[in-house]
Amino acid sequence: MKNSLITVLILIMTLSMAACGAQANAKQEQTEPALTPKPLESPIVESVKNEEETEKMAIEEAPTDVGRFDLEKGVVLLNSGYEMPLLGIGCFMLSNEQAENSVYWALRDGYRLIDTARIYGNEVGVGRGIQRAINEGFVTREEIFVTTKMWTSDFDNGDAAIDASLDRLGLDYIDLMILHHSQPRNDVQAYQAMERAVEAGKLHSIGLSNYYEPEDFDRLVTATSIVPALLQNETHPYHQSTEMKEHIAQYGTVLESWFPLGGRGNTQILFNDDTIASIAAAHGKTSAQVILRWHLQAGNIAIPGSSNEAHIAENFDIFDFTLSDGEMDELTAIDRDERFADY
Ligand code: NAD
Repeated sequence: MKNSLITVLILIMTLSMAACGAQANAKQEQTEPALTPKPLESPIVESVKNEEETEKMAIEEAPTDVGRFDLEKGVVLLNSGYEMPLLGIGCFMLSNEQAENSVYWALRDGYRLIDTARIYGNEVGVGRGIQRAINEGFVTREEIFVTTKMWTSDFDNGDAAIDASLDRLGLDYIDLMILHHSQPRNDVQAYQAMERAVEAGKLHSIGLSNYYEPEDFDRLVTATSIVPALLQNETHPYHQSTEMKEHIAQYGTVLESWFPLGGRGNTQILFNDDTIASIAAAHGKTSAQVILRWHLQAGNIAIPGSSNEAHIAENFDIFDFTLSDGEMDELTAIDRDERFADY
């Protein structure tokens, strides 16, 4: 009797120690992103690959957070295992000096996501703005998420292009690099250079921009190993990208909106739209804030561009109100499937 009681006690202790170990393992995986991305699987699922079959099944049944927008924390978990902020500062059309200031003001105001590109010619300025914010103690490197893009003329020399962007930004890794445009002649080759850079620790996540047809996206995915973490396409209330967003969701790939406010020269068209303006008035917010809030609630990461200190602050002040389901429906209804840009 006594012996069997001791046996039962030992069994209980062994099982609870094993459970603690699994929990600690899962927690570590959550805080330390995997270096080799495993698309469509949460890091937690990955951490138990070699555990007992029953335990593995139980954990795999738990819902994955990949692709779920957390508007409280302002982040989404990418299929690469890294968290990405939902709202960032865009740097298109900014000089090096403007980019430095915009990035610095944005980081000071609470932004943690920065979007630039080799072709914008301001990676040096972006790097300076980041360094200023770090030096002044507003952020650490680990707290921010930097995106840049490989331009099409670099696609034959992807490895060198990645190193050159790292140099200009003054960083030893880039959080996300994306191919700037679809270019069937050599975009697979360029993407494979980014895959090598992920292996080398130079890039954390990789993705695409300006792929507007599901077949074109699939062409790239089929020919490569790492599923894109993100697709950045022109997206705003008049071009809501619904079909592409649904298509890429099956890969755990998230959508990011460029021209989130319509882009230079077009913003007033969206700001003065009757539906947008009346919802803005109802909330005591600006049209820009309503559009940005719509992006986040619709499941689009947004990167509004600006060199104006007040606009940069205004665009980040969207976490204190919520659009109702009815308002979201009204905004969905103004989609025209029309792009402002022709590239
Ligand atoms: P946007 O839709 O963010 O609009 C920018 C315009 O809006 C600017 O004229 C700015 O002065 C104005 N603006 C910003 N905030 C405002 C506010 N609160 N009130 C009034 N006006 C305001 O267009 P964008 O900057 O071209 O796009 C966003 C980002 O997307 C770019 O900065 C860039 O990082 C990225 N982008 C990517 C591609 C691509 O091909 N992948 C193309 C274009 C842009």
